[in-house]
Amino acid sequence: MTLRLFNTLSGQLDPLVPSDGQALRMYACGPTVYDYGHIGNFRTFLQVDVLRRFLKLTGVHVRHVMNITDVDDKIIRNAAQAGIPISEYTPRFVDAFFEDLEALRIERPEQIARATEHIPRMVELIQRLAAAGAAYKTEDGSWYFRLAAFPEYGKLSKKDLSGMEDGARVDVDEYEKDSARDFALWKAAKPGETAWQTPIGLGRPGWHIECSAMAMEYLGDSFDLHAGGEDLMFPHHENEIAQSESVTHKPFARHWMHVRFLLVDGRKMSKSEGNFFTLRDLLLKGYKASAIRLALISVPYRHQLNFTFDGLTEATNAIERLRTFHQRITTGSYAAGSNPALQAAAEKAKAEYMAALANDLNTAEARAPIFDLIRTSNTAIDQGQLFAADRDAILTVLADFDAVFDVIEDRDAEPTRRAIAWAEQAGRLAEVAPELLSRQSLSDEAIDALVVERTLAKRQRNFARADQIRNELADKGIVLEDAKDGVRWKRK
Ligand code: AMP
Ligand code: ZN
Repeated sequence: MTLRLFNTLSGQLDPLVPSDGQALRMYACGPTVYDYGHIGNFRTFLQVDVLRRFLKLTGVHVRHVMNITDVDDKIIRNAAQAGIPISEYTPRFVDAFFEDLEALRIERPEQIARATEHIPRMVELIQRLAAAGAAYKTEDGSWYFRLAAFPEYGKLSKKDLSGMEDGARVDVDEYEKDSARDFALWKAAKPGETAWQTPIGLGRPGWHIECSAMAMEYLGDSFDLHAGGEDLMFPHHENEIAQSESVTHKPFARHWMHVRFLLVDGRKMSKSEGNFFTLRDLLLKGYKASAIRLALISVPYRHQLNFTFDGLTEATNAIERLRTFHQRITTGSYAAGSNPALQAAAEKAKAEYMAALANDLNTAEARAPIFDLIRTSNTAIDQGQLFAADRDAILTVLADFDAVFDVIEDRDAEPTRRAIAWAEQAGRLAEVAPELLSRQSLSDEAIDALVVERTLAKRQRNFARADQIRNELADKGIVLEDAKDGVRWKRK
């Protein structure tokens, strides 16, 4: 099964296959580590995660590279305000980013590339651009890309750039949305700023050159796919194409994927608008990491998604349904044999699920047959019509669902615990939902001990004590499930 994915460059759905017949080489623009990422940023990383997981599910090997922008205007500004060098300022946000990826079950790309560790590659690329007549140096020692040297500029975003002024320049990383200008490749050092001594002078790289240099370093001059949020299409990705193709004269990325925005009340979620939530904010309000993941991926990447708390609640309920069913089907005992109708239902669900994802990663349509199958299966179990072979077939479908969605296994306690520990350390305990705090007050070991005590009490027919323990745990959000092989518990 081949994925057909919308390609911004061609303007149509194109099949996405490894051009070298081995691995799909893809580059996704990563975070700028000047602060904690907001969930809008993570929507983009999550949708790229859906892409890579679906490719893997269809048997495609993936070589995914992601950059970390650990030097830019905002980082320099914030580090200066904090009175520390950028090398001391960024690590905690890099760590936080990886923690958030883990909490959201976003797989790590095969290669993470930090900008500050690739300065020589960027300098080399600028030198090649200069040799090709596409880069020039200004009086202050900065280097710019000469847009006039790349007539194809605008081919990705399909912008009409006819009014473009030759030689007009922009040197900030925060670009004006609609004007195409010669853009900075290298910024001459300003007093007190972090700078590198290089053959092209003392300074630091611009943001765009970073991605061109690192993508080509790890994936070659031409590769399969480049991804990022919709705001990166212009000018960032347009600039990456110009910088790369001006020296290689080969297509940079064949396929371009752009994830539409997460909105709040119809406006882009962003730091500058102040209308954002970080993952930590939501975890501290009591939402589960899995629910945030599901809510952010359930609307397909080519649609903008309006963030609402109702959406998170819907996702929470959907996950509860999935987990309850999974628990029911794995712990129940089913007689040998099979029910042909259920076998057919499982096959149909699998086919519809795969077809929906293969059709431009339509996650919304992919979810539906899974929940239909759960409904059908529950009815069959109620009627004693589900057999061992059906259980196996249904579990296989759920495993394929979770290979991409990854929400069935309950791993929610850890991210929440970490968020609370972080809030404590950051002096933000006041923001933690009170019911969360009381839940967290019991360690896993304490819960285990109470569960053992309850089992003993029951054995001694001390049902009053057993019930008391169950209620005490329930008050703290811990649910007990009596199974054949003992008692399981989970944090609600
Ligand atoms: P940044 O850390 O600002 O460089 O952004 C990291 C990624 O998040 C980029 O791919 C952006 O395009 C993306 N992004 C930023 N804001 C949003 C949003 N509201 N919704 C979806 N993606 C976003
Ligand atoms: Zn980039």
